[in-house]
Amino acid sequence: MEKYDVVVVGGGVAGSVAARFAAKSGFRTLLVEKFKTPRNKPCSGIQFQYFEKLIGEKIPREKLCRNELFKVEIITPKDKVLKGRMKMLNFWRSTFDSWLNSLAADAGAEFHDNTSLIDFVADKTEGKIIVKLSAEGEHREVKAHYLIGADGMLSRVRKKLRPQDFDKKASGATVNYYFVGEANLDPNTLYMFYKREFCPLMFAWVYLKDDKWVIGTGANENPLEYADRFFNYVKEKYGLRGQIVKKEGFSSTLKSTVFLGEGRVLLLGDAAGLVDLYRGVGMDNAALSGRLAVKAITKAEEEGSEAAKAYEHHMKKFVKKIETNAKRQMKRLSSNNELERSLSPLNMLKGGLHMLIANQINKILPPEKLRFLPP
Ligand SMILES: Cc1cc2nc3c(=O)[nH]c(=O)nc-3n(C[C@H](O)[C@H](O)[C@H](O)COP(=O)(O)OP(=O)(O)OC[C@H]3O[C@@H](n4cnc5c(N)ncnc54)[C@H](O)[C@@H]3O)c2cc1C
Repeated sequence: MEKYDVVVVGGGVAGSVAARFAAKSGFRTLLVEKFKTPRNKPCSGIQFQYFEKLIGEKIPREKLCRNELFKVEIITPKDKVLKGRMKMLNFWRSTFDSWLNSLAADAGAEFHDNTSLIDFVADKTEGKIIVKLSAEGEHREVKAHYLIGADGMLSRVRKKLRPQDFDKKASGATVNYYFVGEANLDPNTLYMFYKREFCPLMFAWVYLKDDKWVIGTGANENPLEYADRFFNYVKEKYGLRGQIVKKEGFSSTLKSTVFLGEGRVLLLGDAAGLVDLYRGVGMDNAALSGRLAVKAITKAEEEGSEAAKAYEHHMKKFVKKIETNAKRQMKRLSSNNELERSLSPLNMLKGGLHMLIANQINKILPPEKLRFLPP
């Protein structure tokens, strides 16, 4: 049976970053991705420039969308429009994640797409983990010293460790409509609609990716009703003339609690519950968790300590922030008045200044000390 130091499940942001850094650190690493790559992942694919520091590489221009996003327009419940400027990275997750997979492979990780984890069990005699994989109907078993579950919100690794963290039914979904045609919208602006009638969870969004306008939202109940209402509003307000070429939904049964794993099984990114709905992003936390998981494994190997404990320690500050932001988010969305208050000119001015300063400071800070945005 093939033996690896680290087996990483999931070729998204978290898994690819972890596999790359594990291989760079000299660990014999296997990275498996369930789908044939490049695979689609429902995601807006927007991040700030500090994200390049987290993944450890400048993103080549051809991996980004043709249109750059460098303006933001926030529309408040009372229809105030707040405008700002901030350079963002705009990419399709299929192209981007496939590039990340190749970076992991270039660093020495063995990468297999079309390969799923189906189960794992402890091998007590050797103190290893037997990882059961399936590749195009063929079953294969490998041994791992560490198992990394970076397998997203529907994580099998987490389900095995903590089935109680999953509900029987998905409580909601995000929905994206992809529209091609004419629109009285700016191709370089990310539009964020903070209106509970369009999005009771976060904000509803509109932006351009190459030739496609993405018009989307998320809701705990009746997400399609929200998506249709929002699309019709955008269509009328911005004079959309053309057609919807694709509708895409994403739902999960994972409850929103953070769990980072146990013993030599570590959970990363969405599998660990690291999405931050207050900030409306998850890829930065996913990349960071990939780095810190490898740091924890390295420490555990050097000191003979438990990797999950070291990982929990490294992640402490970030987990606290996610939990605080979840509470802020609940408060902010409790009514349109609260939402309007959170977007008051004073708060926005403070937020804008924070963003400007953080953006400058982030240029010199090391990856683990970065100020994540928006604040
Ligand atoms: C609609 C939407 C918009 C978003 N927009 C943004 C945004 O603009 N910016 C941002 O920062 N974040 C955004 N997010 C959040 C972001 O998409 C996630 O936080 C991020 O993808 C998490 O990365 P990950 O690597 O943990 O998981 P994923 O990207 O989900 O990757 C998990 C991978 O594991 C694979 N996998 C699953 N099961 C198995 C298995 N059994 N065996 C092998 N492989 C498996 C999957 O196929 C997948 O490739 C958005 C999310 C949604 C739903």
